[in-house]
Amino acid sequence: MENIKKVALITGATRGIGKQIAITLAKEGYNIALNYRKENEDLENAKKEITELGVRVLAVQGDVSKYEDCERFVKEIIEKFGHIDVLVNNAGITRDCLLIRMKEEDFKQVIDTNLGGTYNVTKNVISYMMKAHSGRIINISSVVGIVGNAGQTNYSASKAGIIGFTKSLAKEVASRNILVNAIAPGFIETDMTGVLKEEIKNEIAKNIPMKRMGSAQEVAKVVKFLTSDDSSYITGQVINVDGGMVM
Ligand code: NDP
Repeated sequence: MENIKKVALITGATRGIGKQIAITLAKEGYNIALNYRKENEDLENAKKEITELGVRVLAVQGDVSKYEDCERFVKEIIEKFGHIDVLVNNAGITRDCLLIRMKEEDFKQVIDTNLGGTYNVTKNVISYMMKAHSGRIINISSVVGIVGNAGQTNYSASKAGIIGFTKSLAKEVASRNILVNAIAPGFIETDMTGVLKEEIKNEIAKNIPMKRMGSAQEVAKVVKFLTSDDSSYITGQVINVDGGMVM
């Protein structure tokens, strides 16, 4: 083990919610294992911003929908850092379309990335956490996994699946002092929602009790809580971060 700092692995952490989670946990003193898919400017910026916070950053390449990639990068993290204390399954995609027009590929890709990716990474991390008799796993679901959304049968199924996965795993590993929870964000300002037209965003915001979109930081703060001692008796839960959108 190279040092005694705790290590957090965050998938899809080059931008959006994942990047903010990485920054927030770095501020808490975690060394960061940052998973990315493509080498680009976003990756360089994320690495630089996190390194400037005085912690170590290990960027690990891998497509979470591919089991072999996850197996390889988890091994790499263990070799370099010796342990993984926190896992945040954040990487996710949308391929929105009404079911009548949805191609099999669009359904499969979303399930394989969002739900399959959560399995692929967690499966490779869990044995280390079980040996350590400690760990925190936070899975990023969505309110759409709870209430559904027209045009998102693929995404909604993947996010509902993450909730089932979270609760089942929480029951399996609670006695090993590993806490597994999910966060269900509502409508958060990132590239994912940035593709929507301004008038559509305003229309959605109007129907949110708090009348605004949320920020990536507001999601990251809940991740911070779920990794802290303050949440030591919470497992198998889904916490909505949605300005009251779903209640
Ligand atoms: P963004 O599209 O802004 O970022 C997604 C991140 O995931 C990127 O870093 C992307 O990498 C990465 N990623 C995508 N596919 C893979 C893959 N196969 N392997 C590794 N990394 C991958 O999304 P958000 O930050 O908005 O979303 C983060 C999570 O929060 C997702 O799970 C999303 O479903 C969820 N969420 C978001 C909401 C919102 O309103 N924004 C609401 C509810 C849930 P790359 O740069 O290579 O594409």
